Amino acid sequence: MTVAHGPVVLFGGTFDPIHRAHINGARAIARALRCPVHLLPNAVPPHRDQPQADGEHRLAMLRLAVARYPELIADDWELRQDGPSWSLRTLQHFRSVAGERPLVLVIGADSLATLHTWRQWQDYPALCHLAVLPRPGARRARAGVLATFPEGDAGTLCQTPAGRRLMLKRPFLDVSATAVRDVLAQRGHCPALPADVEAYIHRHHLYNVVQRTDSTADTSSTDPGTA
Ligand code: ATP
Repeated sequence: MTVAHGPVVLFGGTFDPIHRAHINGARAIARALRCPVHLLPNAVPPHRDQPQADGEHRLAMLRLAVARYPELIADDWELRQDGPSWSLRTLQHFRSVAGERPLVLVIGADSLATLHTWRQWQDYPALCHLAVLPRPGARRARAGVLATFPEGDAGTLCQTPAGRRLMLKRPFLDVSATAVRDVLAQRGHCPALPADVEAYIHRHHLYNVVQRTDSTADTSSTDPGTA
């Protein structure tokens, strides 16, 4: 089947906070598929600890992080929904919006390794493709998951609505939001954060951040989300 338009690409996450591996990964997908990528912070992640920063702050940091990249879109759809942020519900919504266009869900290789535990994951191939970012330390995914989503290249993903899996080789970045939060609490600075995001964290005293005493501390209050 040929498709009328380019793919709709969704990259969901807690983004607590957004870091360089999220940004570089999203940009790599946008380059590979030649289309924009929507980044969707979740409201109530069903599979993990709840975020430390509330949705308004996580969205504000995301907006700052993507501001210089026209191919990246901060999308608040999941934050506007009630209840747990089931990926299935998000995919069903965007499938209805996309019609026959390809729908692509971006995940890290660690998420692919746990996909068999996600609610109704067997329904995913009818709804979307997967684009998988490599991640240091990620376990291999279950054979059943790999077989359910046969591997394809970027061209295949752009020519069919759903059901294939694109495996990216880069970026390969040993970064996690957990480590970023720990480093911020210890040192007040983390190189894996975009500068605007780090300044926002300081302004809003997020993540038990150690207050900076150097001249780089940002005192402006022009960001979204500032009361
Ligand atoms: P935390 O440490 O709090 O679990 P995280 O860094 O894993 O956070 P999430 O917001 O939970 O970030 O991740 C959103 C998506 O981004 C997931 O699909 C995850 O696999 C992926 N991801 C996060 N960090 C990386 C990374 N370094 N490389 C590849 N994918 C990543």
